[in-house]
Amino acid sequence: MKVAIRDDDACFFTAPAELERVYHDVWDRLPVCLAAVPYAIGYERVGIPREHWRSGVAFPLAQNRDLVAALHEWRAARRVTIALHGFTHEDFPSGYEFQAAPDPERRVREGLQHLTETLDTRVTIFVPPHNALSKRGLAAVSRAGLNLLGSFLSFRPSMRPWDARTPLNWWRVRRVRARTGRSKGDRFVYPYVLRYGRHAEFGCHSLVPGTTADELVTRFEEARRLGGDFCIATHYWEIDATLRDVLRRVLDHCARCADVRFVAAEELFA
Ligand SMILES: [Zn+2]
Repeated sequence: MKVAIRDDDACFFTAPAELERVYHDVWDRLPVCLAAVPYAIGYERVGIPREHWRSGVAFPLAQNRDLVAALHEWRAARRVTIALHGFTHEDFPSGYEFQAAPDPERRVREGLQHLTETLDTRVTIFVPPHNALSKRGLAAVSRAGLNLLGSFLSFRPSMRPWDARTPLNWWRVRRVRARTGRSKGDRFVYPYVLRYGRHAEFGCHSLVPGTTADELVTRFEEARRLGGDFCIATHYWEIDATLRDVLRRVLDHCARCADVRFVAAEELFA
């Protein structure tokens, strides 16, 4: 069984110390997949200066020299890997970035280019901002050959671009949903990789304020019983001492299982 972790929102506004604070004793156990924003536009959240909450100015990640240097060092030490997390991460009046932006194709292309050139790495994973993707957004990601790491991906065939594998994948999800006694509206993270024509998808389990270690361990054990894999998704900027303790306890639990292998998120798709 593979276990991985993904952390969202590293960007121009991120100080290396913020990531160190959360992961200094985690990333030597398993690499953290940092889903990074290449040209972040500020919004209202902890860690972004107030003057940029509504400024609408896009900041290239490359302009944060300290972060770039730290990312190079952590990558070399295999502590982190890099995924693409949107382009600006901005919200539009009609939806989140990859639901509503008029140009998702350009955003994937230029975002990928910025991360690849700045961090000298190959990026193979896309994480949609707010886990939200339109049909066109998904098509843009798929065409770029990026795998998708989501938390709540829609399996409704009508919400997806045409792909010969959709009907079979839809049926697979439905079958496991039924097997685990869930009805249509019940929360469910499918524990296996779904492969499509040009990309693959995997769902993560959120670690957010309020999530308990017991909850995550229960979901991990279910994925394990089903012979699946497990990925935790979180945001460094909302991890306090309580959530850090939750993360540590869940990873300790996973580490005690002889069949578990801690991997980089990219390996989930291998
Ligand atoms: Zn995000």
